[in-house]
Amino acid sequence: MLDLTFTAPQPKVISGAKAEWELVIGLEVHAQVASNAKLFSGASTTFGAEPNANVAFVDAAMPGMLPVVNEFCVAQAVRTGLGLKAQINLRSAFDRKNYFYPDLPQGYQISQLYHPIVGEGEVIVDMGPGVARRVRIERIHLEQDAGKSIHDMDPNMSFVDLNRTGVALMEIVSRPDIRGPEEAAAYVAKLRQILRYLGTCDGNMQNGNLRADVNVSVCKPGAYERYQETQDFSHLGTRCEIKNMNSLRFIQAAIDYEARRQIAILEDGGSIVQETRLYDPDKGETRSMRSKEEAHDYRYFPDPDLLPLEIEQAWVDDIAATMPELPDARKARYMGDFGLTDYDASVLTAEKENAVFFEAVAMGRDGKTAANWVINELFGRLNKESLGIAESPLSAAQLGGVLDLIGSGEISGKMAKDLFEILWTEGGDPADIAAARGMKQVTDTGAIEAAVDEIIAANPAQVEKARANAKLAGWFTGQVLKATGGKANPAVVNEMVARKLGL
Ligand code: ADP
Ligand code: MG
Repeated sequence: MLDLTFTAPQPKVISGAKAEWELVIGLEVHAQVASNAKLFSGASTTFGAEPNANVAFVDAAMPGMLPVVNEFCVAQAVRTGLGLKAQINLRSAFDRKNYFYPDLPQGYQISQLYHPIVGEGEVIVDMGPGVARRVRIERIHLEQDAGKSIHDMDPNMSFVDLNRTGVALMEIVSRPDIRGPEEAAAYVAKLRQILRYLGTCDGNMQNGNLRADVNVSVCKPGAYERYQETQDFSHLGTRCEIKNMNSLRFIQAAIDYEARRQIAILEDGGSIVQETRLYDPDKGETRSMRSKEEAHDYRYFPDPDLLPLEIEQAWVDDIAATMPELPDARKARYMGDFGLTDYDASVLTAEKENAVFFEAVAMGRDGKTAANWVINELFGRLNKESLGIAESPLSAAQLGGVLDLIGSGEISGKMAKDLFEILWTEGGDPADIAAARGMKQVTDTGAIEAAVDEIIAANPAQVEKARANAKLAGWFTGQVLKATGGKANPAVVNEMVARKLGL
């Protein structure tokens, strides 16, 4: 287990206002379930397919078609719940949320309002080395996604693409435990990381795979503590909900703007109207989309086409038995087994694929050296060339081979970097390349000694200087390394120079 200090909420205090104000934030994250088929049909969920290529009759709401729940999507929601240490509800139910929209041919969305499949859980949010915040999860429910209306393809017509219609979403609702823009971004990042480790959501925010509705309110110091004691929302300010955010940077900017907007209204003697707002990244501001009075009355009712969803504890236990190692556990293991710092372990476990690569390099070798090479040389280079780990020209076995040559003293750190470069551009076997290109550190003290003697004999004036000032002995080391073509082991040369000069 990670040794964490849980901090009390660190409310962000907005500067520039007349009084002190604190932020209160709760997030509803929509995460697309990683599944080949939709929630109630066998249609494919492949991203970027031809418009309307992935539409079953039931997705298009053809008369008489009936939804059939996809067991795999249910298992994914359960797996997610277990990953968030949440309560799994063995009995849940689907409801119809009624509204009209051209990209929602049914005229309603199937969701779970009254009986969600997952109950209370938590996300441990990383706020710096060894420091964490606990954000409570209220519920996770399964629901259908809607399709897409396209208004910019033709001046006179709108089009509709139903490929996304009926794709399974998990709506993950947090308690209003988040106290600032950075915490909100860190929460989404951690949630995304856990989902990706679980394999229950790809978490590709650009593709809209993971998006968040951000609820923001402001209150005076002390109000949040009273809410925590009583769980009575009336202690908190009125919230506004910023819809459909799919970038961590925009989430932070939108919260900051929204908090300042609300404070300005309140300090002006006004009051906040509960409403749904949209963030405009170009202008950096939020604007009203619809107020509570205009809010839809969804007329929720249990979907008569679907029986209540009953699952068995034994089935849940089977899923629990196949849970992968999650980020925090992996990070703790890297710190314990490989002696890595919190920072290095965080970098290496940020993405599961990176962690798997690192482990393949580190297994049976020095963990810290492996971490240095993976983070600084490999990740550094991959970043520079905008490549993912899957596209790395170097395999874990090749990088491991380089580390073996360093470990045995056969090549120097400088040679290792050259070797890395060759492997990156040309590929090949590290040991073979080192041999073929004469990359061999001279540890043969006889050869080094000859070079040291020769240089000392040829430079009597330098010898005098170095004897007067030991710091100048480095000059000899440099000369010897040059004379041996960089192949001599610098530590050995240093030691020998000092001895010969009688320092
Ligand atoms: P709705 O679907 O109407 O938006 P939900 O209950 O599904 O309502 O979600 C409400 C979200 O808003 C939750 O994440 C909750 O934590 C958050 N929230 C509730 N009250 C406040 C508040 N006063 N300030 C900030 N967030 C809030
Ligand atoms: Mg909402």
